Amino acid sequence: MSQANNSSKQAATACDVVVVGGGGAGMAAAIEAASHNRHVVLLEKDASLGGSTAWSVGSISATNTPQQKARGIVDHPDAHFEDLEVLAGAKANRDNRALRRILVDNTTEMMRWLESHGLVFVGPNEEKPHRLPRMHNVLPNSRAFPEMLGRACRKAGVDVRLGTAARKLITEAGRVTGVETLRPNGKVERFVARGGVVLAGGDYSASAELKAHFVSDEAAALEAVNPGANGSVIQLGIEAGGEVINGDIIRGPTMRFIPPTRESLLRRLPPNRTMARLLKWSLGNLPAFLQRPFAMGFLTTALGPSPNMFKAGAILVNQNGERFCDELGNPGPLVPSQPDRVAYIVMDRAIAEKFRAWPYYVSTAPGVAYAHLDDYRRNRADIYHSAGTMSDLAQSMSVPVANLTAAITETITRDVASGLVPLGDGPYVALGPVKSYVVFTDGGLKVTERHEVVGSDGAPIAGLFAAGSTGQGGLILEGHGHHLGWAFVSGRLAGRNAAMNIEAVLTEDRNN
Ligand SMILES: Cc1cc2nc3c(=O)[nH]c(=O)nc-3n(C[C@H](O)[C@H](O)[C@H](O)COP(=O)(O)OP(=O)(O)OC[C@H]3O[C@@H](n4cnc5c(N)ncnc54)[C@H](O)[C@@H]3O)c2cc1C
Repeated sequence: MSQANNSSKQAATACDVVVVGGGGAGMAAAIEAASHNRHVVLLEKDASLGGSTAWSVGSISATNTPQQKARGIVDHPDAHFEDLEVLAGAKANRDNRALRRILVDNTTEMMRWLESHGLVFVGPNEEKPHRLPRMHNVLPNSRAFPEMLGRACRKAGVDVRLGTAARKLITEAGRVTGVETLRPNGKVERFVARGGVVLAGGDYSASAELKAHFVSDEAAALEAVNPGANGSVIQLGIEAGGEVINGDIIRGPTMRFIPPTRESLLRRLPPNRTMARLLKWSLGNLPAFLQRPFAMGFLTTALGPSPNMFKAGAILVNQNGERFCDELGNPGPLVPSQPDRVAYIVMDRAIAEKFRAWPYYVSTAPGVAYAHLDDYRRNRADIYHSAGTMSDLAQSMSVPVANLTAAITETITRDVASGLVPLGDGPYVALGPVKSYVVFTDGGLKVTERHEVVGSDGAPIAGLFAAGSTGQGGLILEGHGHHLGWAFVSGRLAGRNAAMNIEAVLTEDRNN
């Protein structure tokens, strides 16, 4: 990341707390700090709030929620703590159990807080090995987080600066006192904070440099679901003396359908409370055929294909129309080395018929809905190809006819005894392009239980806090719904601690 050396020439905006990054953790930190009567500036490099939080499926695992209670489920954070150990599996010995304790002890209050800001959830849903249903899903989708929490930021008086990227931390006498920023028009600004700076800039799934450093060259070559997750804020923490823990742990490569080039009309509707309540009501009351088009309009965006399609006999071909892998193995890592880094899922009439109805789904948003083939036909025409013949299908996919025909006919001679299902007659359906992505990285700055960034000497760096993925601190977040949980829990706590830090700073100044 480029460094500024003209920082001293810039006039500074004074405030109490600067939060860097307007995703789940950053918005939570800003709202919380502002609720302690602090003047808060929230810096977001993009033109809108959200980050990976707005890309997520929107699952949050939590205990003792109103939804659990309504279903008579008696749960406890201790049980959640133990189940996270099971979920961590072989990685359990790398977990930061002190941070895990903070997470499980705060999920009830976090859900209450999210709901108090207008977020609406359905659930809880089962996810083994959780001993009880804990997974809650936001409605209508995860863009509700920036919609509702962005509104809460403005209501709380947070000074939200969009299109403002943090590029350097300002330090004075060993204490972090502010942030220098750069706007797209080249304008450099400085923000100084009495209480401190909260780093909440997400992960580095889109940083080839950091993935090469912490994971591997193969990982560096993979695309990220969120191309904005550039790790620049983790980099700021490293430059200040911080250390990344569990930098090699990433989620991926996993296959996902490419995002739509144009948002549907439904997805352009604001994901506000009315919309969420309408969807919640329809999920509970309307027959499936009525709620389906509505729910699916929101959901069939960046979801992953179910491996059950391959079990049923679907094949994967590349842009040359050629098969390149054992579909029942682990095809995800092989997609990036194919032409244009894409693949297509091809199925015959019989498989297509199956995946039009339960229990055969193309993809799922846990607890909200399962998307079948017709949902993709209706909502994702850009990745849905259907044709009566192999050659027409090849044309629709823009792949060579001869190769695709050979790939499909070759499977007709498959040895059924080996467990592979041969493809049969058309009409044929193909879904794609799919790509392999890194969904997120789990390396985060080492932090204390007060979410202070730990420096190279092992002591907290004065005035510097971190939350969410940036401040993950070695916490293992396996299963679904723990990353968002950590973003909101740690964001609020880091924001509160930065707000309260002002008293300590004033006392220190008086004593010096
Ligand atoms: C497709 C997908 C599905 C997922 N589904 C789930 C799920 O269902 N449940 C779950 O628990 N987790 C899920 N996750 C993970 C979860 O979304 C993230 O771990 C979580 O949202 C991280 O929140 P955050 O606030 O730390 O980071 P983010 O939400 O990424 O926010 C970071 C913000 O910082 C900004 N920023 C970065 N650098 C700078 C800079 N230099 N200056 C200013 N701003 C900067 C970014 O633009 C961004 O807005 C999913 C992730 C993806 C990608």
